[in-house]
Amino acid sequence: MNNNVSTFLSAIKAALDTHSDEVAELDQAIGDGDHLINLQRGLDALIKQADALDAMDLSAAFSKIGMTLMSTMGGASGSLFGSMFVSMGKAAKDKPVDFANMTTIFSVGVESVKARGKADLGEKTMLDTLIPAMNSLNDSVSRGASVDDALADMQQAAENGMLSTKEMLANKGRASFLGERARGHIDAGARTSQLMLFVIADVLLEKY
Ligand code: ADP
Ligand code: MG
Repeated sequence: MNNNVSTFLSAIKAALDTHSDEVAELDQAIGDGDHLINLQRGLDALIKQADALDAMDLSAAFSKIGMTLMSTMGGASGSLFGSMFVSMGKAAKDKPVDFANMTTIFSVGVESVKARGKADLGEKTMLDTLIPAMNSLNDSVSRGASVDDALADMQQAAENGMLSTKEMLANKGRASFLGERARGHIDAGARTSQLMLFVIADVLLEKY
């Protein structure tokens, strides 16, 4: 696998743009409505550095992505995604980029979101997408599944996880102040995480 971060960045931007109204409405319903704007601000900052990111090894690129997201995105999600990528940068150091290692690196990232957000599965956050996706990938690696099957299974697990937030009450983030009123709405961060994982897997399925 080459490090062409820019391919992933443009694919993610396109996916978020396609679903921008939907995501904005989700965060308006149970948050403060800025989640999409925060993400787009972070992505635009990354896209400006795309050539530099492409020239780095994966570890350095992840660290740079993390620091950029922390300093540009804002919102709870900015510090969560920022710390996710900074920790993935550390985990990627001196590791060959293969599927099993990428799964380990992603898992370190998800664990750092759990630690930073003091949250876990079932609290109506992005973790309800990220944790099922991580579990699915780890399961595929231990079963020796093909990369294609593993990515397709991960897409499905992420989607199921995202949809599961609809009926949850929120314990974390702004939505936690709403109590029962949070029920019936998908969490915005769960949806954007699912959209991003979906498109990352699609790029990988097509390219490698
Ligand atoms: P803010 O809530 O500060 O306005 P954003 O709107 O950018 O930040 O992001 C909100 C999203 O962040 C939520 O939809 C949720 O998925 C995620 N989130 C908020 N708090 C936490 C937390 N403690 N742990 C994990 N994810 C969280
Ligand atoms: Mg918000």
